[in-house]
Amino acid sequence: MTTLPRSAVMLNTPTRRAIPFEDKGGLAAVVSEITSEIRELYTADQVPWVVGYSGGKDSTAVLQLVWIALQGLPSEQRTKPVYVISTDTLVENPVVAAWVTGSLDTMRQAAEGQGLPIQPNRLIPDVKDTFWVGLIGKGYPAPRPKFRWCTERLKIRPSNSFIRRVVHDHGEAILVLGIRKAESQARARVMERHEKRRVRDRLSPNGNLPNSLVYSPIEDWSNDEVWTFLMQQANPWGHANKDLLTMYQGASSDGECPLVVDSSTPSCGDSRFGCWTCTLVDKDKSMSAMIQNDEEKEWMLPLLELRDELDVADDSHLRDWRKMNGSIQLFYDRNVPGPYTQKAREDWLSKLLNAQTWIREHAPESVRNIELITMDELHEIRRIWVFEKHEVEDSLPRIYKQETGEDFPGGPLDQHLAVATDEVELLREVCGDDELHFLTMRELLAVERKFRTMTRRSGLFEALEKTIKKGYYADKEDAVDMALRNQHNKTAPMLPGLDEVSADASA
Ligand code: SF4
Repeated sequence: MTTLPRSAVMLNTPTRRAIPFEDKGGLAAVVSEITSEIRELYTADQVPWVVGYSGGKDSTAVLQLVWIALQGLPSEQRTKPVYVISTDTLVENPVVAAWVTGSLDTMRQAAEGQGLPIQPNRLIPDVKDTFWVGLIGKGYPAPRPKFRWCTERLKIRPSNSFIRRVVHDHGEAILVLGIRKAESQARARVMERHEKRRVRDRLSPNGNLPNSLVYSPIEDWSNDEVWTFLMQQANPWGHANKDLLTMYQGASSDGECPLVVDSSTPSCGDSRFGCWTCTLVDKDKSMSAMIQNDEEKEWMLPLLELRDELDVADDSHLRDWRKMNGSIQLFYDRNVPGPYTQKAREDWLSKLLNAQTWIREHAPESVRNIELITMDELHEIRRIWVFEKHEVEDSLPRIYKQETGEDFPGGPLDQHLAVATDEVELLREVCGDDELHFLTMRELLAVERKFRTMTRRSGLFEALEKTIKKGYYADKEDAVDMALRNQHNKTAPMLPGLDEVSADASA
């Protein structure tokens, strides 16, 4: 008997796509069963609910089920609050961000009108944690799999601190999430592990947040089932699900960025609902698709270009060869670059403000007020540059004026500066080509200025010593040589000291 090659067998075998909800008794039966379960769980205790809502399909489906279930309860039983939380990283795809904000507004009005205890909340990161404060202010390089500094700051912290507040006020919280086993094998494994530790029927413990439990009503649904439900069941707060489908159409990947409560969640940048700045994906396919499919979205092109610029394979020319604290890090005897240099950070800010100005001038009326970076972030970046990095040139107001044509709101910092802005140029001239010397002198002056006004100057010498150590090299080669020697000394076997040798000799 001849055996057919495997590919031939696969090609000739007709594949049948599973009909949504077929093996679960049909859509109506599933919705009825889940909404009864939701009502049962909701009325079982006084623990408030927190529904994670990203505006994507899965979380919309879950919120829709919760909404329908609550509508079916008599008003005297709809007592405990249901907080809907949505994190806005401030670098969301602007089309998606506008969609979610619009949906939260509609939701708020609809919940009030229908007498439901549903309270929508838009959560944003602390100003010290935002993407631009990290990248332009502190100089963190664009996120990479090995240095994914963003998710924790932009998504996990805002949602976790909200949930912690609820737990603090009420003793416990139940998180209602749109997570599904069909998302990925890793997701299925984590969910199954938690399932085994369920304390109450359908509620899994949340490893990261004490006193909070997770309820995932659509955990067994497939992608098609989620869409079938959304297309066949009208959205109860009146935001068109068809528009949601339109947003999804045309993109290659249809993953959704879920409510991220822990770092085991896969990169949400791989989805339609990630940040437009995300460099953990090869390309922002969803934004490219939006621009390609709709001439009206061409105004997003500068964002795509800026994202691609952030995503350069070798960015070592943009980065300091020292770490943030001035030390040298080696990997296989090669220098690992540190944060973006002052010049690179200033350039990123120029490019970002330039993109914002261009969009404000060319985009449709509805996005004319777009804010790619907030005033609070700009003030924080200015503070970090001047007072933490000692960049007394105070260049942010100049860049702002140059790119927007407007004066930067906020007074001059002259009285707080170690060296007046024009004197910095003089210092640069004196130091000539020796950039490291200039940086060290500038920082030494700033440290001295900081301590000058203090009544007790304890800590001054340590601070000066730290600054001198940071600039204690002739250049990069010298620094790497020194780090290699230090590394070698640490690993070399200990030789006996002179005293020990002479003691042995005399014995
Ligand atoms: S989408 Fe990308 S940039 Fe945004 S938080 Fe997730 S990993 Fe970071």
